[in-house]
Amino acid sequence: MTSVEPFLARTHIAYFSMEMALRPEMHTYAGWLGVLAGDTARSCADLELPVVFVTLLSRAGYFRQEIGPDGEQIEHPDWWEPKRWCTPLNAMVAVEIEEKPVWIRPWLYTHTCPHGHRIPVLLLDTELDQNGEPDRTLTHYLYGGDEVYRLKQEIVLGIGGFRILQALGFDVHTYHLNEGHAALLTLELLNRWKVPPEDLAPGEPAYDIAEVRFRCVFTTHTPVEAGHDRFSYELFERLLPGFVDLDTLKQLAGEDRLNMTRLALNLSDYVNGVARRHAQTAEQMFPGYRIHAITNGVHVGTWTHPAFAALYDANFPRWQHEPEVLVRALQLSEDDVWQCHRLAKQDLIARVKATTGGELDPDIPTIGFARRMTGYKRPLLLFADPARLAAIAARYPLQIVLAGKAHPRDEPGKDAVCRLHTLIRELHGKVTCAFLPDYDLEIALALVSGCDIWLNTPLPPLEASGTSGMKAALNGGVNLSILDGWWIEACIEGVTGWSIGHDETAVSDEQHAVALYGKLEHTVLPLYYNDPSAWRRTMKQAIANIAYYFNSQRMMRRYATEAYLR
Ligand SMILES: *Cc1c(COP(=O)(O)O)cnc(C)c1O
Repeated sequence: MTSVEPFLARTHIAYFSMEMALRPEMHTYAGWLGVLAGDTARSCADLELPVVFVTLLSRAGYFRQEIGPDGEQIEHPDWWEPKRWCTPLNAMVAVEIEEKPVWIRPWLYTHTCPHGHRIPVLLLDTELDQNGEPDRTLTHYLYGGDEVYRLKQEIVLGIGGFRILQALGFDVHTYHLNEGHAALLTLELLNRWKVPPEDLAPGEPAYDIAEVRFRCVFTTHTPVEAGHDRFSYELFERLLPGFVDLDTLKQLAGEDRLNMTRLALNLSDYVNGVARRHAQTAEQMFPGYRIHAITNGVHVGTWTHPAFAALYDANFPRWQHEPEVLVRALQLSEDDVWQCHRLAKQDLIARVKATTGGELDPDIPTIGFARRMTGYKRPLLLFADPARLAAIAARYPLQIVLAGKAHPRDEPGKDAVCRLHTLIRELHGKVTCAFLPDYDLEIALALVSGCDIWLNTPLPPLEASGTSGMKAALNGGVNLSILDGWWIEACIEGVTGWSIGHDETAVSDEQHAVALYGKLEHTVLPLYYNDPSAWRRTMKQAIANIAYYFNSQRMMRRYATEAYLR
């Protein structure tokens, strides 16, 4: 499509996200936040919700991960070709940054759902002749550059995105901020709702804050203070001099630094966390705010292996629109479920062979672990005691597939990637392990559908939700996870999967590793080897008790009725 005209009449909600995983060929995402935004868009299309999406074009992507000879992560720009998938629109807006205009043009991507409904995604681009050299690259690198680059990107997204919607003629009633990156949008709204000086009582803010709050919905994702975007007011004033009254801004966004989460919290009428535990954690972090819980979900049409999709089509014809029907998955035949799983596992084995040369055995249970390589995800926990792991594997053969990127500036995360490669070599001949480089949407689908056991070992309460385990369950994968984020809501011990440790904080890494090894050796692997029928029943129980609920159709129906319809 070359115009937004067909969307204007019935689009009233704008969803802003720094990243969005729309399709594998478009490198406009880094990880979970983008995948969630993509699944949100896909569900909005399925449900015909009146939403337009706004994100950055990110021409150079996040980065392409290569693994060097010593197991080290090597980062490359990850260019993609916007014109193959998107259309540049005939509209431009400018935002004054450092007192000169930065021009922004949107590209249009339309997502079409299986029954033909379309939704628009606007991708903001500053690579224009009108801009000078540094500004032209502002929308190149997702999460790249320094803090100045980052704040400029957030200006482009929040303020530029708002102006683009206006310039294109969208009549937006509700702005949904997916994480704090787009929170500067609220400042643009403040400026639109200025109180005329003659109506202003002394000491009152110069803006009609209630009008702004009424229009904003904010989803927070970060359960640690340190994880929130913060900028100095000095930098803010340098980039956007006089944009809003500084005293008001400090009341809304923090005295010392501009905290994007606080700004969004104070200017949104509806705020939510992404799982029940996360909403509680966020309420403790920000006392006095009401933080609702809408637990994340995944888009079932996107995250189901074709073999399982065919099985569901045959048994539950409306499952993609209404995944609740998967609650009846217990009626599936164990043999059918197992056959589908075998096909998905074959695909994973072929992919591992093609990319790493590693040989996996289809009869050996496969443990999958794929996530951002960073401290709190504890990618090394499974390898805390390599001798113990090897001893378990000697009794109950197992194999391990890993994937994940570390942010280029996360040195401990990059060290973990390196260390994993050393461990893979050291365990050679005892435990077969493979690392798939450049974790992305396609690798994610291969992994979540091809593994038998999906492992998650975050340090509680730092996993806000987690979604890859939901994808695994949709494909009959069985979760083995620390009780944090979504898993607290989904785990029925021994029925939908297994917990590692108990629901408590302040447990050492070592204790969690011991609990993990114990659960693997005494519960999970014996069931796999000694009682295949019970294992297959567990797979069906995971589908029935997890997939029916932890999907993005349910998630978006809740956003629609509770956050958008207020
Ligand atoms: C689903 C997904 C994620 C998020 O998984 P978590 O369990 O939240 O870590 C990240 N990256 C990709 C590519 C995914 O598909």
